[in-house]
Amino acid sequence: MKIDNVDFFYLAMPKVTTDADGSQDALLVRVQAGSHVGWGECEASPLTSIASYVCPMSHGSCRPVAESVLGQPLNDPSDIARIRASVQFNSMDLLQAAHTFSGIEVALWDALGKSLGEPAYRLLGYKSAVPKLAYASQLFGNTPAETEAKAKAAREAGFRAVKFGWVNYGRGSVAEDAAHVEAARAGMGSDAEVLIDAGQIFAQEVEAAAKRLPALERFGVVWLEEPFLPDALAAYGALADRSRKVGMAGGEGCHSAPMALNLIDFGKVGFIQIDAGRIGGLGPAKEVADHAVAKGVTFVNHTFTSHLALSASIQPYAGLADHRIAEYPFAPSALARNLTVNHIMPDKDGMIRLPDGPGLAMMVNTAALHPYLKEVEIAVGGRTLFRSSALPV
Ligand SMILES: [Mg+2]
Repeated sequence: MKIDNVDFFYLAMPKVTTDADGSQDALLVRVQAGSHVGWGECEASPLTSIASYVCPMSHGSCRPVAESVLGQPLNDPSDIARIRASVQFNSMDLLQAAHTFSGIEVALWDALGKSLGEPAYRLLGYKSAVPKLAYASQLFGNTPAETEAKAKAAREAGFRAVKFGWVNYGRGSVAEDAAHVEAARAGMGSDAEVLIDAGQIFAQEVEAAAKRLPALERFGVVWLEEPFLPDALAAYGALADRSRKVGMAGGEGCHSAPMALNLIDFGKVGFIQIDAGRIGGLGPAKEVADHAVAKGVTFVNHTFTSHLALSASIQPYAGLADHRIAEYPFAPSALARNLTVNHIMPDKDGMIRLPDGPGLAMMVNTAALHPYLKEVEIAVGGRTLFRSSALPV
């Protein structure tokens, strides 16, 4: 079969705020190849990603993503790798291209899996998908009391691991941050795993981040996530050298496999967190997982949005039994919740399993998405380059 059509659906909540909640809007991608349809989601700004698909060529190294995708054959995994290489080369000066292609690439695996009757993880080389310990991923409360209440709610919902991030962490005093970490531990109890996400707040300031380490260690935090900018390798490496027990985590900002490999090799992270909807799709995410295994680093998915994105980001390490923890969006927007008919739910032990079925094995709930669909039209010089399609009912 060949790639006949690629559609983008820009979905958004009625009100989008400055909260660090990436589930407030979504760019859903539909690929049609022969009689098969695949779905994917870009973890990036929707409108600029659509623009990268259709923008007129600037020059030979700055072509729209569509040029490398439409009409290409899609019969086995090597076709997807070839298309990726073509996007990388033809759109090298188009910085949003990796983000745009990520959702397309995921949808290609979904369509290919459906045509071959195989789950994506099997096409990636795993025999089976092992259960993962879901950690309830959420934002800090505004006060330590709020953080503690959120932790208790996660525990009562059956989660044995929790992550808090962003909001005020790193913005106030060391003592204020410590109070939030203490509250998270108090709410979850002594036997749970607690993770902390600094949300890049320290940029490249190693000293500022290092001052937070004693409290993280005191309350048994497993990892400190994204203390720095995603490519601040020297800062990551320096903090890793100074931390005795708390691991460094990062990688959600990586938009290519080499960027993530550098974070492992030079940033010395102990946990590499990859979003399939940002790094370029399942193929590059699997490359990172292979490197993580070789280097003794733990691979973790990054997912803060829908269960379509959750399935996609777990596929690249689905078969790795020693890489057992998985990010689970605990309080996503109504849009993200409604994006799929089926959901990946934790069992009584807080474990999640990928659904059985070809491709990503997720059913997109097109009927429920109509209220969130934004009409988009891009025209240049009077010529329409993009007009959003209607969602099927
Ligand atoms: Mg994060």
